Amino acid sequence: MPSQSLETVVAEIAAEMAARPDRGQVATYIPELGRVDPNQFAIAVALPDGSVVCAGDCATFFSIQSVSKVFTLTLALGLAGDRLWNRVGREPSGSRFNSIVQLEHERGIPRNPFINAGAIAITDLILSGHKPREALAEILRFMQFLADDDSVYIDQAVAASEERTGFNNRALANFMKGFGVIENPVEYVLGVYFHHCAIAMTCRQLAKAGTFLAHLGKNPATGNSVVTAERAKRINAVMLTCGHYDGSGEFAYRVGLPGKSGVGGGILAVVPGKASVAVWSPGLDASGNSHLGRIALERLTARMGWSIFGAP
Ligand code: GLU
Repeated sequence: MPSQSLETVVAEIAAEMAARPDRGQVATYIPELGRVDPNQFAIAVALPDGSVVCAGDCATFFSIQSVSKVFTLTLALGLAGDRLWNRVGREPSGSRFNSIVQLEHERGIPRNPFINAGAIAITDLILSGHKPREALAEILRFMQFLADDDSVYIDQAVAASEERTGFNNRALANFMKGFGVIENPVEYVLGVYFHHCAIAMTCRQLAKAGTFLAHLGKNPATGNSVVTAERAKRINAVMLTCGHYDGSGEFAYRVGLPGKSGVGGGILAVVPGKASVAVWSPGLDASGNSHLGRIALERLTARMGWSIFGAP
């Protein structure tokens, strides 16, 4: 059992992170993200009774970027069920988040739903049978429902910024289209993809949105059932093995939780049976994952005894 209360641990970690000079580098390949002040940090822990323990800049909205891919995967599994795994694999890639190399060897089938290629294929699946704005509205509504907060929004400046500079993602989508893996027009798929990556949330909202993953697919506070217990278990497994790109092994080694990062500096982590945790600090490490976010989670799991691999 931890010797300190969760409130104390969370406040201590926020103070320790604020004092650190090393903050990583903000992503600049999406120019709008390059304008974010790196001296920000937030941590929020959502508990099964609906309360959230927060410290730092918990009410500041940030671009969740690839953290949105947990939720698009959840939606797509609801639409396609296990057929989804014919379009996307579920193995760690060991490559950078935007790598194209593996696609050539595996007939355009992305390694997993969290690397960019895989997430674009998942977006294509959600889009089928809908207009782009309907698909996007559905994703946004899902996030607002999970966060229990209608102020979750799409940051149009961030989406437009990525539309202008997303050459690499265009290459990935066109390459997959060449293999017949993408059904819809590439520009439609990318439009929805760039916009769902541009969803803006606070750490408090993101922690609440992840609650169903920590509690067998259900939010115990609201009673809302989101997915089956089995599906929640599967999503957590993919987060653990693939959620941090080629830094996934390091994240499991140091933090010991299923987690998903985004280049906006957010990370959602799941403590099965206990809590859903969101951290945010915009500076990234060499793998494109939040530098201080990872360190904060490492300290949280160590001090609370929350690693899924056993207490230290
Ligand atoms: N929208 C970003 C991209 O496609 C997401 C990457 C990330 O957050 O890791 O490059």
